[in-house]
Amino acid sequence: MQKQNRKIFFQTIIILLIILIPFSGYSWGITGHRVVAKIAQNHLTRKAQREIKNLIGKESLAEWANWPDFIKSDTTNTWKHTSKWHYVNVASGLEKENYIKALTSLQGENLYSQIIEMKNQLANKSLSKEQRRIALIFLVHLVGDLHQPLHIGRQEDLGGNKIKLTWFNQPSNLHEVWDDKLVNFQQYSFTEYASTLDILKKSQVKEIQNTSLEDWFYESYSIANKIYAQAPDGSKLSYRYNYIFVNDLNNQLLKGGLRLAKILNEVFN
Ligand SMILES: [Zn+2]
Repeated sequence: MQKQNRKIFFQTIIILLIILIPFSGYSWGITGHRVVAKIAQNHLTRKAQREIKNLIGKESLAEWANWPDFIKSDTTNTWKHTSKWHYVNVASGLEKENYIKALTSLQGENLYSQIIEMKNQLANKSLSKEQRRIALIFLVHLVGDLHQPLHIGRQEDLGGNKIKLTWFNQPSNLHEVWDDKLVNFQQYSFTEYASTLDILKKSQVKEIQNTSLEDWFYESYSIANKIYAQAPDGSKLSYRYNYIFVNDLNNQLLKGGLRLAKILNEVFN
């Protein structure tokens, strides 16, 4: 091959690789996180809105909701320590009381410990504005992850990542189905999705918000158990899977948004 041709050949290969390497390991995918953030934004108090504007300007929470996943590709190691903030692993099959005991006594940093930590940092006005801005962005993202049941899944299969199956005949895994496939199957933009879900009465909103952080973890954990039971390794998922789980999916996105608003309103009021 001539030098020029060879260059074009390799450039083509590289471009093809970039296109073909699948997006993987992103929690709730792009749309799911934005739906949660958008719903939360709809339920902020005036005071919380003002304080958030002070930290991120005119940009929306949805705009920043996926940033904690994007930085997984940072090669400088600045954010490497945050990779275990996106999930929590507790043994499966526990009743509520034992689950919460296990969750709250975990050692080291995880999704549960970091939601509390980010909330504290955001509320701490002696920290720099930049530090509080980062805490806000992580909080938006992590409350989303908390509501993706497989982020509360089993350690042995990496939250469903090791459960190989097909989604409409395409090879996938259980975690990816819940991050992306099922959300994208609904064919909404994130704003359409948020306005479709965010229609509850005030009393219903309160009911969803007025439970504890530990309750929310247990709820996700229970849904994860149901998800595991319905999709053994090698499953062929398609329309019927959507039929079985679309309500759980929608409820989790909505609850994520409403509860994120609750946390942010608490911090700023
Ligand atoms: Zn995540």
